[in-house]
Amino acid sequence: MTSETFPTLSAFDDDALDSAFAALENRARVDATFVSNESDAEAFRLRWLGRKQGLLKDVSDGWLKAAPPTAKKSVGERFKVLKDLVESLLESAVGTGPTDATLAAEAIDISLPGSRRLTGAEHPITRTLNEIVAVFAALGYSVGVGPEVETDFYNFESMNFPPGHPARDTQDTLVIAHQDRRPLRDRLLLRTHTSPVQMRTMEQQPPPVRIVIPGKVHRNDAQDATHSPIFHQVEGLCVDTNITLSDLKGTLDHAMKALFGSAVKTRFFPSFFPFTEPSADVQISCIFCGGKGCRKCKHSGWIELLGCGMVDPAVFAFAAEKQPAYDPKKISGFAFGMGVERIAMMKYGISEIGQFYAGDMRFLGQFA
Ligand SMILES: [Zn+2]
Repeated sequence: MTSETFPTLSAFDDDALDSAFAALENRARVDATFVSNESDAEAFRLRWLGRKQGLLKDVSDGWLKAAPPTAKKSVGERFKVLKDLVESLLESAVGTGPTDATLAAEAIDISLPGSRRLTGAEHPITRTLNEIVAVFAALGYSVGVGPEVETDFYNFESMNFPPGHPARDTQDTLVIAHQDRRPLRDRLLLRTHTSPVQMRTMEQQPPPVRIVIPGKVHRNDAQDATHSPIFHQVEGLCVDTNITLSDLKGTLDHAMKALFGSAVKTRFFPSFFPFTEPSADVQISCIFCGGKGCRKCKHSGWIELLGCGMVDPAVFAFAAEKQPAYDPKKISGFAFGMGVERIAMMKYGISEIGQFYAGDMRFLGQFA
């Protein structure tokens, strides 16, 4: 193709060569102005530098090789200048970005209104859980986690619920099917409390221990306004030398004031949990009526909020099987546990536990 449009050279004197090469240089410059993307650049390269039918090959074949010996040098010098020009035109064409027209087509109208992105927010359960953890983190507690599918040993036996003990019936348990051949302590279940992480932590590290254990727990409870088969707990464990009941009371009194306000009072009632002895239920003064008595506190002025107690020596004995430093004669500790949903319902005035899980944006949006 190119040979058809390729000019013939009438003479090999300087004037003829100058004008012939000047015409080609012009042509190259004009060609280069049409290059606006990579495929244009490739077309330019083929047209000028193609090994088989590029214009420079035509110049080389038609002018340089045909030149009489006396003119070879002057044709060769001009050919070199033309070749350099073509190569530099190609180089700068490839390096240049899109043309003005392309830029104009892609321009963004900054006066248009932006598209609004919704900001995510913590679920009220997550937020409450994090608030509780933060209160104890400020007291030097670290966070422990463990599996939701747990063995009978960690969930019950090591927490001092012996096989057949009636306390097991207080936590209606979802068990994994087809495990009858396994020994009871190895059978899998969905953990009914976060307490097994107490034992897992003590087995991993000698005292002192200060951990809070947030997490999901499962019970075979029918759903109603205040119960759900899946809910969240934050459990705490503190073990060291000379830990006493007054440390427990002081810690929980501080935590309740940090969560519900400094005006809140706490009181402790004797209770029973297999893994603590003595055990207590903690009540806080009603945050709705300030203790005067209202419908929310059943006119008692107090609301029961969490369970706690001094770690039972039998629990330390299980831990001592792997960590002998848990010798109940030398160390002592306390544990406590609270339901996250219950605290979130109180803090935010929510009456139906199911609203936390329904995924209704009208409900959840209030917490964003
Ligand atoms: Zn009240």
